[in-house]
Amino acid sequence: MISAELASQLAEIGLDFYRRGWAPGTSGNFSAVISRDPLRLAITTSGAHKGALSATDILVIDERGRAPAGTGRPSAEAELHLAVVRARGAGAVLHTHSVWSTILSDAAEGPGVEFEGYELLKGLEGVTTHLHREWLPIVENTQDWVAGAAELEKTLHRYPKAHGFIIRRHGLYSWGENLLQARRHIETLEFLLEVTERKRGKTWRV
Ligand SMILES: [Zn+2]
Repeated sequence: MISAELASQLAEIGLDFYRRGWAPGTSGNFSAVISRDPLRLAITTSGAHKGALSATDILVIDERGRAPAGTGRPSAEAELHLAVVRARGAGAVLHTHSVWSTILSDAAEGPGVEFEGYELLKGLEGVTTHLHREWLPIVENTQDWVAGAAELEKTLHRYPKAHGFIIRRHGLYSWGENLLQARRHIETLEFLLEVTERKRGKTWRV
């Protein structure tokens, strides 16, 4: 059962992210752990508009991504939320489809993007200096997220300090102990993606 408080927190994040252009159309999905044993996640349904989320757009899934009959269809990417919770012990997972994560992951030829030297890096949990080097892995896009989630878990174990990952030409995932921390991480990483891409593509002169 999803509390009214959790539903309103998710709706508020949805509206904020939608207005920032991070969840156009019905893209993106958000989840929060409501029970660890047995594992239960509250997650936005497939096709829900993130700028107008209501309690009926959020359902509860089990550790295999199944929702009780008649409660709605979970996103195909629910598998990724479960993989992040398993690999990182996260309490909340947020996913955006921003312009900057899409462009930068398209342009990047390697398996990730690196950020270093920015004050805002300190928005990431455990980071205390702008000199920190953050590696944001890129995973390839697919429509088969059952297989994709297994690949993702390997990537998360390969980069145990990463605070998020990007799916190529698709969007950003980040997480935290709770929704507040996950939101801070998304805001931080979206900022770093935008700064990096604007700098890469800059046409102005000083
Ligand atoms: Zn997506």
